[in-house]
Amino acid sequence: MISPDLSGAPDGLLEVLRREICASGPVPVARYMDMCLTDPQHGYYCRRDAIGATGDFITAPEISQIFGELLGIWVAATWQQLGEPEHLHLIELGPGRGTMMRDVLRAMRVLPGLRERVKPGLVEISPHLRATQRATLAGDDQGLTWADSLQDILDDPTDAVPTIILANEFFDALPVTQFVRVGGQWHERAVGLDAENGLAWTHLSPVAELPDLPEAIDSRANDGDIFETRRPALIASAPTLLEPLAAVASRVPTVLLAIDYGHEGPAIGDTLQAMRAQTYADVLQAPGEQDITSHVDFAELAGILEAIDLETDGPITQSEFLSGLGFASRLERLLIGKDASQANAIETAAHRLVAEPGMGNHFRVLGARSRGLDPLIPFPAPVPADS
Ligand code: SAH
Repeated sequence: MISPDLSGAPDGLLEVLRREICASGPVPVARYMDMCLTDPQHGYYCRRDAIGATGDFITAPEISQIFGELLGIWVAATWQQLGEPEHLHLIELGPGRGTMMRDVLRAMRVLPGLRERVKPGLVEISPHLRATQRATLAGDDQGLTWADSLQDILDDPTDAVPTIILANEFFDALPVTQFVRVGGQWHERAVGLDAENGLAWTHLSPVAELPDLPEAIDSRANDGDIFETRRPALIASAPTLLEPLAAVASRVPTVLLAIDYGHEGPAIGDTLQAMRAQTYADVLQAPGEQDITSHVDFAELAGILEAIDLETDGPITQSEFLSGLGFASRLERLLIGKDASQANAIETAAHRLVAEPGMGNHFRVLGARSRGLDPLIPFPAPVPADS
């Protein structure tokens, strides 16, 4: 008998999940999320053109060019801060449609000669999105390379040059681990099957303790509460992400900028969300057919980066970050020569990035740098520990 090819079938991943759950029991939330997003055959990012005004979700660089342009200005200023090195490796993690890198490369031309010194690298697992990125960047592809991971892009440590790494909405797509409180104990949350063979929330055996959850929060937790952590995924990604980052940062001046929606510090709450056609969807519906993300705990991310010997700046809100880079004057310049309706569209889109409540305060920016480098712009200077 010929087994059916489920690769193109709409419930291809659902069938894979059913088989795995029947064979080995419920899949933890982190594995579910990972399969939904990055499974090479059925994963969401690998199959569809999801990002942008006509996709399932829209990101800052797709909303307004001012986002990538201000980041380009930030890269230029940071290059100056690094002492204007002869060569600069500019890497983006999870570049989506390539729009941000295109706008960054264009805007950094404010400093004559800088673009020629920059080797841009895109870390992207999705062949589908790589093709989109290639098309977006076709007009400015000097030195451009692609790789599946940071490790692959930095694979020759002998010629390491000062490196700037940008990540917008990358960390939120890394699998999150969830724990749910049941009968007064924490259990890893998982996805199993209900009586109709559909996907259903369940949990695994109780865990002894959650080391990342402070006692003060733990003691107030009620049944049904959920605690999330990305530490397991970040630790699991050590060989491809954290270790190459630590290695390059110890050898050459290295800077990382992580922009994402999230909060600071451990908290109780379920932030796992699915997006389809720009509206929230059921996380268990249509696996592989919709985007799944969860909020980033910036305190956790900062702690992990500090543990690999980077110093961190912020997080500050996206609105503080963009304002600090000259959002208002950049917007004024973009409006020059535009008619009323064009100007209105540009202004509305740009203001969405800094709106509060909205993207302006839901998104945060965390900087990280090789030990010994000065604090990054436009982050406030760190407050001395004893003041
Ligand atoms: N930064 C883009 C896209 C965000 S969506 C923007 O702002 O528009 C997340 C991106 O990360 C996609 O390009 C996705 O394919 C990529 N991605 C997700 N997980 C990844 C992983 N483990 N390694 C590399 N890229 C990944």
